[in-house]
Amino acid sequence: MEEINKELFEKVVKIAQSRGFVYNSSSIYGGLRSSYDYGPLGAVLKKNIAENWWKSLYSHSELKIYPIDTAIIQSTSVWKASGHLSEFSDDLVECKICNSRFRADLLDTVSCECDNPEFTEPKKFNLMFSTNIGPTNDENSNVYLRPETAQGIFINFENVQRTMRAKLPFGIANIGKSFRNEITPGQFIFRTREFEQMEIEFFCKLEDSSKWFEFWKEARMQWYLNLGISQDYLRFREHSQNELAHYAKKTVDIEFLYPWGWGELEGIADRGIFDIEAHQNASGKDISYFDTEENIKIVPNVIEPAAGLTRTLFALLCATYKEDNVNNETRNFFTFNFNIAPIQIGILPLSKKENLIKLANEINNLLLVKYRTELDVTQSIGKRYRRQDEIGTPFCITIDFESLEDGKVTIRDRDTMQQQRVSIEKLLNFFDKD
Ligand code: ATP
Repeated sequence: MEEINKELFEKVVKIAQSRGFVYNSSSIYGGLRSSYDYGPLGAVLKKNIAENWWKSLYSHSELKIYPIDTAIIQSTSVWKASGHLSEFSDDLVECKICNSRFRADLLDTVSCECDNPEFTEPKKFNLMFSTNIGPTNDENSNVYLRPETAQGIFINFENVQRTMRAKLPFGIANIGKSFRNEITPGQFIFRTREFEQMEIEFFCKLEDSSKWFEFWKEARMQWYLNLGISQDYLRFREHSQNELAHYAKKTVDIEFLYPWGWGELEGIADRGIFDIEAHQNASGKDISYFDTEENIKIVPNVIEPAAGLTRTLFALLCATYKEDNVNNETRNFFTFNFNIAPIQIGILPLSKKENLIKLANEINNLLLVKYRTELDVTQSIGKRYRRQDEIGTPFCITIDFESLEDGKVTIRDRDTMQQQRVSIEKLLNFFDKD
């Protein structure tokens, strides 16, 4: 397997920033630490990953998954009941010399810049961002930005079940921004204070929960493989008993081999009946499920595959970055799958002559109905190939003077760099197979 190292991290970050995937946020004002904006390519890549996730949820005929889209600001009672107000904290230590603050459990991977740092005893630091709604600024107007999308699902369990006439087992999926006032954000978009999550809560009967836990473990691993991340970069890691979150009976992480080592990409947790029961007790509302087969009310068990969209994007950049040597020059490229690549087909007329540009425009119009294309007429053909490689475009079409005669164009494959002549009439079908 290819060696993974710091160099890879720097290269990936550099291309991501210089080619329009990710920008430092507020950069014209000097930037805001660990805050990022997604550029034209990054925004499309993120959307493609999210769409792929939704599609995968509808691809198992035996599964029923309901999509949902819930509010970022929810009642504070939600966070009281879920345990986030009391439990959602990290241990914070402060260097007594420079007053820098660190997450205690990450002290091995982040370091204080003092020569002989001296740390305070760890104290709890709640990770939720708080704000106020309305014009007043008191305890009653105090609300929180959601630190996870999951609770939006739990508080709507009964709504979805009733309005969709859902029968167990079924899942509810939610995607969107979450906010955590991380003590130690960093490593580019791996850990940020504002990020996107893709979460599924899968409700089932207690006796089926082990079966569904295994199902989701395998299904979610397969999703990363299908996305184009090779198995070498992925593994499972089960949480030890003392590592488990307050709600979890069992958790297995899907870990990714980041440039600095293995780390979490997704957590799959057996949350038991913790959340539905907690909201039922706190709200005083009956949100249980009526089992028509057994004629009893039950609180369903929950299996939760919780993934990070922005973290997946970062993992995908790292896993698909490749280099080879072409004519004594290093060529770098991302091996994005065709369905994920921000640009799928680069259209490159060999010269700026009017008749070639006209044909290139016609070909672009033919293809853009179905595919994400980019017509590029500037610079030498070699430079244009390099640029398309660097942003992970799977195919380039070159249009030359012969094309005007024989109605054929040259298609170049990003990974093999092999070229083939294909007639323009057959172009739509050619890309269909991908
Ligand atoms: P970590 O241990 O890395 O802090 P976590 O266990 O707190 O993560 P979960 O609460 O399980 O994370 O959230 C589910 C997923 O959301 C994570 O696997 C990760 O992909 C993503 N995620 C969590 N926190 C962040 C963050 N600060 N920035 C980017 N993605 C995040």
